[in-house]
Amino acid sequence: MTKGKITSIISNLLTINVDGPVGQNEICYVKHNDVELRSEVIKVFGDTVYAQVFESTSGVKIGSEVNFTGSMLEIELGPGLLSKNYDGLQNDLNKMESIYLKRGEYTYALDDAVYEFAPTAKVGDQVTGGDWIGEVSEKWINHKIMVPFAFTAYGKIKSIAKKGPYTNKDVIAVIETDTEELEVKMSQKWPVKVPIRNYKNKPRPFKILETGQRAIDTLNPITEGGTGFIPGPFGAGKTVLQHAIAKNGEADLVLFTACGERANEVVEIFKEFPELVDTRTGRKLAERTTIICNTSNMPVAAREASVYVGMTIAEYYRAMGLKVLLLADSTSRWAQALREMSNRLEELPGPDAFPMDLTAIISNFYSRAGFVHLNNGETGSVTFIGTVSPAGGNLKEPVTESTRKAARCFYALAQGRADSKRYPAIEPVDSYSKYLEYDEFIDYSNENISQNWVEKVNQTKDIVLKGREAADQISILGDDAVPLDYHQQFWKSEVIDFVILQQDAFDKIDMNCPIERQVYMLEYVLRFCNESLDFEAFEEISEFYKKAINLMKQMNYSEFNSKEFKKYEQEMEHKIKERRTEY
Ligand code: ADP
Ligand code: MG
Repeated sequence: MTKGKITSIISNLLTINVDGPVGQNEICYVKHNDVELRSEVIKVFGDTVYAQVFESTSGVKIGSEVNFTGSMLEIELGPGLLSKNYDGLQNDLNKMESIYLKRGEYTYALDDAVYEFAPTAKVGDQVTGGDWIGEVSEKWINHKIMVPFAFTAYGKIKSIAKKGPYTNKDVIAVIETDTEELEVKMSQKWPVKVPIRNYKNKPRPFKILETGQRAIDTLNPITEGGTGFIPGPFGAGKTVLQHAIAKNGEADLVLFTACGERANEVVEIFKEFPELVDTRTGRKLAERTTIICNTSNMPVAAREASVYVGMTIAEYYRAMGLKVLLLADSTSRWAQALREMSNRLEELPGPDAFPMDLTAIISNFYSRAGFVHLNNGETGSVTFIGTVSPAGGNLKEPVTESTRKAARCFYALAQGRADSKRYPAIEPVDSYSKYLEYDEFIDYSNENISQNWVEKVNQTKDIVLKGREAADQISILGDDAVPLDYHQQFWKSEVIDFVILQQDAFDKIDMNCPIERQVYMLEYVLRFCNESLDFEAFEEISEFYKKAINLMKQMNYSEFNSKEFKKYEQEMEHKIKERRTEY
């Protein structure tokens, strides 16, 4: 293998003089005292190689030896990934002796546990990379054992293990081609920067993925295999919203990548998820969640790795035919790590000193999400939602702009809404879902959803817009100087805001709003807004609507269709009757 010597050190960027060939993104180890520090090649220029060290380089000396490995940053894929807490380089955080891994210490990502393997293929079967040849139970998941993705030829199964207990290190099958024999284990390695492409095709996503959040599902739905992002200034509620989606999202599996954000937020998930129960399946949330955590106190260089590790694990489970939801908080921290490195390399800077190819990097990453048809006819999906933290809430900055080109859903959090505690602070008019533009493609898989859903969504947005105009007029001209209609218009938009848009992430019932309930509430609220009601003074209007909003919010806080829910609904009916215009 190629060896090298360090010729310069700038923070965690090394310049290395090498004695042989080196590949882009190759992993190398820097000798420092009695440990080896893992690093990644980021630029090759003749026999000069630039590498970023994934940890602190303090004390590393010029002239130190570097050993190249010939492989890119790879992770372990196999039974045992579920419910693990990893750092950005897939070190198992539960295996750490203290709070931090020691420098140069790397842990095995999977475990030595014994799994009951059951073959689903037989000797003589023709197989290729990604084909299912057996399964093991990993918690509740039927974890498929697959032919290594890297095997792109076709081969015959020469032998396959009988049903029985095996570990990740045992050979469970041998595949032969004319030229080679391949030993297959239950686990395999895969380079994180390379998409796993062992599927037949990737059609446009068409089926809604319920997040349980009204402001998303009702107004701007995301699809299974879709992409979305949540930009918002500090404190606008990005993390709370992502946690809510992680808890209530309708996925088989949730991967949460904490990238460069504060550590205490991640500690909250570590503590909270093992306690919380998934309402759909009755299982503990932790049983469907894997956390990849590279918080602000961990090495900056591993931030980039952490989002790729998350995506690669997501693609792995997608290849098993599962519905995977990947969340990353925050992709801006990743972009900032790229910027730091690009600046140290003295590359020609793009806008705001981010790398010139930022847009391409972000697009390539987002394009790894998607809904796929596997070779065996099954389907799987990776849905990705990232947060972006634009400095000062400026949505024109490069990371937001680049992400907007890549993601199909845009959930902008507005400072003003957060300031007035209107959570989630998703801006109802500026936000969008491009999936909604293709109404015929959105499959809600639910008879309760009427065909003209998009019409209703547009009507809702229209009420919000009209409400804003009315509010402007009222504030310019004064309460008394505008027609009563304006007041009603304003209050109708408040009804939409309080009853549909706002949702309490910390209320036991309101935190998750299943789609049936969302449909019911939207239709209910729209019917209410279409009532023609009679008032004599603007004070009457605000008094009436405040009470109505209160009752409808109580409906949101009650179990759907419970006695309590119906009671509030009847009270509403009573109130409306008093005001209904008589013809
Ligand atoms: P960000 O990640 O954008 O910096 P956070 O998600 O940490 O912001 O939210 C900041 C605070 O706002 C939270 O601690 C919480 O008090 C409040 N908050 C945000 N979203 C909600 C919500 N949906 N329901 C109730 N409170 C919320
Ligand atoms: Mg946050």
